[in-house]
Amino acid sequence: MSQQIVECVPNFSEGRDLGKIKQITDAIEAVSGVSLLHVDPGADTNRTVVTFVGPPEAVAEAAFQAVARAAQVIDMSKHKGAHPRMGATDVLPFVPVEGVTLEDCAHLARQAGERIGRELKIPVFLYEAAASRAERTNLANVRKGEYEGLAEKLQKEEWAPDFGPRRFNAKSGAVICGAREFLIAYNVTLNTRDKSAASDIALELREKGRQARRPGPSPYYSKGEPLYYEKDRFPCGSCEFVGNSFEATVQHCRKTHDYDLHQLFELNEADASQPVGQPVRRKGRFRFCKAIGWYVDEFRRAQISINLTNFKVTPPHLVLEETRKLAAERGLVVTGSEVVGLIPYQALLEAGRYYLAAQGRSPYVPVSDILETAVFSMGLNDVSTFEVNKKVIGLPKLSPDALAARPITEFADEVSRDTPAPGGGSVAALAGALGAALASMVANLAHKKPRAPEHERLLLGIAEKAQGLKERLLRAIDDDTNAFSTYMNAMRLPKQTPEEKTLREQAMQDGLKLAVKVPFETAEHSCEAIKLALEAAIHGSPSSMTDAAVGTAMAFAAVRGGVWNVLVNLKSIKDQSFVESTREKCLRLLEEAEELRAQASGLVDEKLSG
Ligand SMILES: [Zn+2]
Repeated sequence: MSQQIVECVPNFSEGRDLGKIKQITDAIEAVSGVSLLHVDPGADTNRTVVTFVGPPEAVAEAAFQAVARAAQVIDMSKHKGAHPRMGATDVLPFVPVEGVTLEDCAHLARQAGERIGRELKIPVFLYEAAASRAERTNLANVRKGEYEGLAEKLQKEEWAPDFGPRRFNAKSGAVICGAREFLIAYNVTLNTRDKSAASDIALELREKGRQARRPGPSPYYSKGEPLYYEKDRFPCGSCEFVGNSFEATVQHCRKTHDYDLHQLFELNEADASQPVGQPVRRKGRFRFCKAIGWYVDEFRRAQISINLTNFKVTPPHLVLEETRKLAAERGLVVTGSEVVGLIPYQALLEAGRYYLAAQGRSPYVPVSDILETAVFSMGLNDVSTFEVNKKVIGLPKLSPDALAARPITEFADEVSRDTPAPGGGSVAALAGALGAALASMVANLAHKKPRAPEHERLLLGIAEKAQGLKERLLRAIDDDTNAFSTYMNAMRLPKQTPEEKTLREQAMQDGLKLAVKVPFETAEHSCEAIKLALEAAIHGSPSSMTDAAVGTAMAFAAVRGGVWNVLVNLKSIKDQSFVESTREKCLRLLEEAEELRAQASGLVDEKLSG
């Protein structure tokens, strides 16, 4: 995926004065490339949660500008509110959405924190994935003592800030800056108005778990008799095991159920050093999962309201499937589910693939088909409307005026006009995309009747790679036309003084290298597409062998075309070692493509003649 998206969700200690909040969000929106998604002021908490997204550098810049503005308009020495807080900008988390890792976001948080400390003279603590030491990972721990206790906290050696002065800033307090995973707010709806039914399931799902009980005749676990740890009697809570010491049960839980009972106590804020008399703890089914049951008047139904704090470990579709099982055991039906706010593209894509695989279908089909399968399977349109374009963050989108978004006839017409672009480069990319599409088609068709498990795996491998190449090559249709504009813009730079001439020359050379890079990648990806189409011809059904062969021919045209476009632009590049090595790579690519195409042609011709 070529696009990179980071989300930033700062909390500002002002929830009443909308004018001040507007000044802060204006500072965010002034940064180009950033989109402000949501502003949520709370009067009681006197705090506003702001959500914005964009490319990493732009988001970091907007975050800094927002912190700077908040430092001007908010005075913490006069702040009162119902939510714990430490500064004017209280928390500043960076969240990976698309094409970036959590570690990338931690890096971004450190950079932003350093700048805030240095330029704004505000103490900065790093937390969660950006934390500099273990005891700073937990936000509540860092914020303990709040603004009122900050002056004293800064005196302690172990609470020296990560960045900025170790001096109390009365007006701004401190910024707690970090990185965390995307939070998905997800509700599962039941066919009942009974809140306690939803609660009984919520307690089974959530990481914190619940008090263990002796199961009674009712399928509702909450109806069983509650268990307590007694002297010499420490039930496991998750199975029938009873330890004669707490330590024995801790060992048992680790070995048999792979969890740390001490951690479970911590999650429940219970003291594990004195277990006797305390409720027996039963672990929940999902990590990074918070859940409660509630009744929603608007829908006249009970819901399990869920927060997933790491969808990469605990994805929504798996929680939904477990909920469906738990509901069925209780004679209930899940009528659907609901995403509150946004869901990352990757999470919905994984869900769609999961349900396709469960149906025995290839999960490597067009993205729109995968997402549609997810929406149907999860019942996302049950209580509210789920519009993929509005609800999915990080969705790969073509701009409406993109060549690749045009109908075929319009594209062909556009190529045929008396303008130099779109030309051979874009047509080559399209040919490569169609070659990859045919490889995927032949593999997916054969996947319907695989000969053996390894044959099935092989076909899925072809379909997966071919879908990826198809997406990239479709994007290259526009990239190729756009790449040349960098060079054209450089040509228009001023050339009066010797300095201007040097700068212009450099910009033109850079532009030319970009104009080489795009067709070279088209050629490289298309060569991969020939390989896949050939494999599809060999391992697919004999009846679709000619389709695969057409794929190899189309993709070959793309390699040939890509290489021609590289060579023509190389002529004006002055960096001789770059020219030589690129030319060399092109020749090798062409040789390989030629060989693969000949192999495919031979295969089909032999079959047709026999
Ligand atoms: Zn057990």
